[in-house]
Amino acid sequence: MQVHVALGSNLGDRESHLRRALGDIADLEGVSMLVCSSLYETAPMGPQDQPDYINAVCRFDYRGTARALMGRLQSIEREHGRLANGRRWGERPLDLDIILFGEQIIDEPDLSVPHPGLSERSFVLWPLAELDENLTVPGGRGQGKSVVQLQQQCPRLGIQRLPGGALSVE
Ligand code: AMP
Repeated sequence: MQVHVALGSNLGDRESHLRRALGDIADLEGVSMLVCSSLYETAPMGPQDQPDYINAVCRFDYRGTARALMGRLQSIEREHGRLANGRRWGERPLDLDIILFGEQIIDEPDLSVPHPGLSERSFVLWPLAELDENLTVPGGRGQGKSVVQLQQQCPRLGIQRLPGGALSVE
């Protein structure tokens, strides 16, 4: 199955969290053909008294179920869950969300795919467009629309692509 996963961080060494997370995803059983967008910096949604986010979207082939993948991604999130000084316990330096799982539509209490925020989040749409701008969203609010069409309706929220090009697995 071709899968898209969004990565985000706004705590600690944000870029390092995303780089390490990408390597962790590449190392998961059942993952192959991993590619990633550039990094993007975005003002936070909601409360403004928190640092800006760094976001990216990666794409890979996954041999397994969406639920199994979610469990693996949550383990990776937990491994990044504590900063070196240990004082920020409870805050999350890393957020990993399944954005698309091929054409599958999943609507369960703890798992929604396509991700419900997809069509209004510039920090997902911009990096996703870098990878697959003509991809059509199979369900949810953006159903039947291409990534480019969704981008045209979505506020940019000051998103900026950072120099350095696509994030690669080290
Ligand atoms: P968040 O705090 O935004 O990372 O939300 C985490 C929760 O979102 C998890 O407990 C998941 O059960 C739930 N969730 C629902 N849909 C998804 C998805 N597509 N990808 C990842 N987590 C999801």
